[in-house]
Amino acid sequence: MTVSENESPASLPPGVAASGRADSELVRRAHREPPHAYRTPFARDAARVLHARAFRRLAGKTQVFTRLPAEGLSDHFRSRLTHTLEVAQISRTVATALGLNAELAEALALVHDIGHPPFGHAGEKALDRALRGHGLSFDHNLHALRIVTWFEERYPAFRGLNLTLAVREGIVKHSRDYSAEEHPELKEYLLDELPPLEAQLIDLADEIAYLTADLDDGLDSGIIALEQVREAVPLFRGFHDAALASYQSAAPKVVVYEALRRVLNALVTDLIEEVRARVTALGATRLDEIRHAPERLATLSPRLEAARVVMKSFLYASLYNSPGQEHVHAQAEKVVVELFAFLMTEPGLMPEDHQAQIPTEGLARTVADYIAGMTDSYIVQLWERCGGE
Ligand code: MG
Repeated sequence: MTVSENESPASLPPGVAASGRADSELVRRAHREPPHAYRTPFARDAARVLHARAFRRLAGKTQVFTRLPAEGLSDHFRSRLTHTLEVAQISRTVATALGLNAELAEALALVHDIGHPPFGHAGEKALDRALRGHGLSFDHNLHALRIVTWFEERYPAFRGLNLTLAVREGIVKHSRDYSAEEHPELKEYLLDELPPLEAQLIDLADEIAYLTADLDDGLDSGIIALEQVREAVPLFRGFHDAALASYQSAAPKVVVYEALRRVLNALVTDLIEEVRARVTALGATRLDEIRHAPERLATLSPRLEAARVVMKSFLYASLYNSPGQEHVHAQAEKVVVELFAFLMTEPGLMPEDHQAQIPTEGLARTVADYIAGMTDSYIVQLWERCGGE
């Protein structure tokens, strides 16, 4: 990407964007590769993620609602894959508006959830609990790094996708900071520095995408009611009232979509303006200054940050942890924990390429890696084949 292609009156100084030029440290790959004739390194990374097997499996993984047909839920609900595509769209918009590297932002968005196990957060918690019994833990960022640096096998010259340093760093720094003492193996990723803005903005693009989408899917599922959302989420109520006033004869459902669209737009616009204000206040003109800023600069303004927190607590109480979802989470945990225990005693049931990892990774990590890669329906099928009921 050339910076000028994205330059708008609102652009940040070009030097704060992550550079995809051949002489930039950010495009370094573990295995040297000749440059592509007409694609930038970050555009190639986005394409590599898009063509990865683990990416395609996101279609079968829970975002909020399981992908199991037996649950009888709507085909319209987001999967981890459609959520990922929504995050990519928002990330590209924000990066482009700010004159940042939109190709890097897109690659980071496409890869941000690639390490998620089946059954969403319930599955992640269960896998983590099972591993803790063996002195290990499960973390979806670190699992994503394992996928892109090792598990994907597409190239005869190396294991993994051989992604640029900027994309691997962004995976490691997605929504959390690891300490160098606890994770010496991550030293390469500059743990004492903040990631570039393209990586920082993914966390917010992720939140904006799922908060608005989950209100939509939550209403559609009937688990939450429109009156409840209006009461608990003033940001939504304001836009819903305005949409009702503008479109008095529109179908109620379409007015809700219009309100959600305005909520999403307000959050994205606020993010763009807040990042610009913070970078300007810092006086930063180089990436180096972003990396050494006192804190992450990609945030919402205090007013919309407060609104984000309100939306999130509402969704936790009324949708993610609602009584209607409890049995689904309990079942997900049971499947993960039982299959984990079963494979620990019968590792011969794993495919050969997984079994080959046991001597170096240990049995518990190998079983967790295998389970983490599964879709919702695959894990249930295997669990049933192994006697689960
Ligand atoms: Mg996400």
